Amino acid sequence: MSAGAALLPGAPTAGPDAGPLTLGVLGGGQLGRMFVHAAQAMGYETAVLDPDADSPAGRVSHHHLPSAYQDPRALTQLAALCSAITTEFENVPADALALLAATRTVAPGAKAVAIAQDRLAEKAHFVRCGVPCAPFAAIANVADVESAPADLLPGILKTARMGYDGKGQLRVADRAQLRQAFADLKQQVCVLEKLLPLTLECSVVLARGADGAMVEFPVQRNLHRAGILAVTEVFEGALPTPIAAQAVHAARAIAQGLDYVGVLCVEFFVLQDGSLVVNEIAPRPHNSGHYSLDACDQSQFDLQVRTLAGLPLTQPRQHSAAVMLNLLGELWGPHLDATPHWDAVLALPGAHLHLYGKRQARPGRKMGHLTLTAHSAQAAQATALQAAHILGIEAF
Ligand code: ATP
Ligand code: MG
Repeated sequence: MSAGAALLPGAPTAGPDAGPLTLGVLGGGQLGRMFVHAAQAMGYETAVLDPDADSPAGRVSHHHLPSAYQDPRALTQLAALCSAITTEFENVPADALALLAATRTVAPGAKAVAIAQDRLAEKAHFVRCGVPCAPFAAIANVADVESAPADLLPGILKTARMGYDGKGQLRVADRAQLRQAFADLKQQVCVLEKLLPLTLECSVVLARGADGAMVEFPVQRNLHRAGILAVTEVFEGALPTPIAAQAVHAARAIAQGLDYVGVLCVEFFVLQDGSLVVNEIAPRPHNSGHYSLDACDQSQFDLQVRTLAGLPLTQPRQHSAAVMLNLLGELWGPHLDATPHWDAVLALPGAHLHLYGKRQARPGRKMGHLTLTAHSAQAAQATALQAAHILGIEAF
């Protein structure tokens, strides 16, 4: 069902069980949890579908269906509970979204999610939109390994599907390593990308309504470590203005080409020659947009609620310079059972701590994030460096 009339917050539902409208989300991780918080703040009830009975979002939602994403009974139940449904991760089966869309507003739609969950389909979309991406070749079998163009080496072999936080990808220096990597990745369909000389990475988070209206956040500058986002900086001067403008233009073209409805993140590389190359898209709010919770007058989750409910979109305004530090499991110490020094961190001006309520720390696991806001870029960076020092995070 396409988006029709807006689902106004506070409007009673019809029928004997009159009550607030309910918005649903597939996936119960931190992104789902922050969506639930934003929806509830606007007076909606929420429902989460996640197989984990103890998921971070499920625990704070009005309704939690602890079932598999393909379970037709759970999907029917979710549709019965909710007026509109979104997703917090791209690997949700596109079939599940299509099933829900038969009776409910679903945003983003199954087609856009299907493209985002397959690196080959994603790259084909970039080519269609005229946005340059890294030179690549599809590697579906051993013959493709042997015939892949030599100028893609050294490169990165990435599984076409199910990769996140640098998982499912291996750097390869030469063809012998490529053979080994393809075997190590169990000969799943892959993309071989040329290893590009990056000077920096950035991302655009935008929101697009069913009527095609689009708004975006300021462009984020991102630092990754070991394939995982470590730091996001957003303030004037964090990126050259022409690069930021180009990134916004490209992100808008990509969203438009998908006829996208919802919050979309587009990740980019900036190369040593100053050119901009698109990396990948995420059909949902993104880790690099978390600073918007504390540094902008609307967060990416507020906009996710608005797009899902068919409410007006207004351009978000950043009111503070921001540096976001990801809080990964290793901060919980070598035995993963220590409590980081939150007291010292929270003594810093403009420190906003977000913990996702995950029960167990693991190295590389995203446990929370810390945003440092300030009136100037210098002040935000200075407190972020102090926080990094206190927590034992490598400086940036
Ligand atoms: P995430 O879920 O965190 O977005 P991912 O698993 O989808 O990550 P990518 O975004 O493809 O992985 O890559 C992770 C990081 O690896 C990039 O942000 C970048 O730092 C580096 N990287 C990826 N592809 C290339 C490339 N072609 N050339 C140089 N560096 C690359
Ligand atoms: Mg990425």
